[in-house]
Amino acid sequence: MSSSLPPSKGTPARPASQAGRAVLFPEATDAQWADWRWHQRNAVRNLAQLEKVIPLTPDERAGVQETSSLFRVGISPYYLSLIDRDHPLCPIRMQSIPVRAEARVRPGELEDPLGEDKTRPEEAIVHKYPDRVLFLALDTCSVYCRHCTRRRITKGGEAELSKEQMRRGIEYIRQHPEVRDVLISGGDPFLLTEERLEELLAPLYDIPHVEMVRIGTRVPVCLPMRVTDSLARLLRRYAPVYVVTHFNHPKEVTPEAREACERLVDHGVPVENQAVLMRRLNSDARIIQELSHALLRIRVRPYYLHQMDVAQGCEHLRTPLAKGVEILQQLRGHTSGLAVPHLAVDLPGGGGKVTLQPDYVVERGTHDTVFRNYKGERYVYPEPEELDCSCPYDAVWRERRWG
Ligand code: SF4
Repeated sequence: MSSSLPPSKGTPARPASQAGRAVLFPEATDAQWADWRWHQRNAVRNLAQLEKVIPLTPDERAGVQETSSLFRVGISPYYLSLIDRDHPLCPIRMQSIPVRAEARVRPGELEDPLGEDKTRPEEAIVHKYPDRVLFLALDTCSVYCRHCTRRRITKGGEAELSKEQMRRGIEYIRQHPEVRDVLISGGDPFLLTEERLEELLAPLYDIPHVEMVRIGTRVPVCLPMRVTDSLARLLRRYAPVYVVTHFNHPKEVTPEAREACERLVDHGVPVENQAVLMRRLNSDARIIQELSHALLRIRVRPYYLHQMDVAQGCEHLRTPLAKGVEILQQLRGHTSGLAVPHLAVDLPGGGGKVTLQPDYVVERGTHDTVFRNYKGERYVYPEPEELDCSCPYDAVWRERRWG
């Protein structure tokens, strides 16, 4: 994964996967390790393979057995190489190896927690919000995350879209001029071949009302060798393409992940992160702050911190709502605003996202409002005398604006 530009400051050069690779995959050559298809072919996918490389706890062993008909296991050698073999609460391990609690469905948990299937006019399309759609391109991932809330799709059976399904998805967008933003997800779109990805990006680029494309992917986290120069160049050709990735713990921000993210950014592809708050994995302000700082160092913007969806088998990872708010309170003011993600709750059943934050208002008056700041000190903000907020130039701008 050579890059012609120097990396950002302060990132270690030694691959994080080096030690784990030597123990778990001693036979792998450098060329194989650098080849994402080798990682896909050698992913660990069942109990027997897993037991050969990781000493499982009884809870994990039972978890793999009891969830086998519910959601698949799949861990790339790279992601596996980051696992702490001695600690069952290692964040990489918690995200990739099931435990028994995952097999239990609690009252109120939903198979489709975001109500996507209710608003799925085509196999490929979820159209829930007015100006944007989700394009579900495939059902496969480089690692099957134990917290995946779209497991009804990624558990297998839907596979890659047929050319006809893809054509119908694109046609739907073409027929809906209100759609200005397309989020391609699945599954992980970076597991598509570049030819297939281009078959999707090129026609979207040609639709005049589609202003931007986002691609949701965990590849920079779980399979960073997939982010090749040729993939980055392909994305750049269809700019603006934003990559939305999913780091949940600073342990995942490795030199390999840095190289993948910086390659995208160096090619002019912005990268944003959406983390999920998970109990006992990253449910601590110190961890979220360290994650945000590590991401900013590799030029990835910490964008959302998601409250865990009410998805089947995820109760053991869910935090109380108050924990996220407490974390934001511990970040806001204490570090740069760019390092403070939005705390979002995707409302169960398809209500859409709402954001939460600590309440800084102490008293609300007609003429002024009393706030407390991040140190708990009180400050008064006065209202202006003039209250007319209409913008007279707007009519002119609407007539004359460029392009
Ligand atoms: S990469 Fe995303 S879609 Fe795939 S299993 Fe993980 S969370 Fe689910």
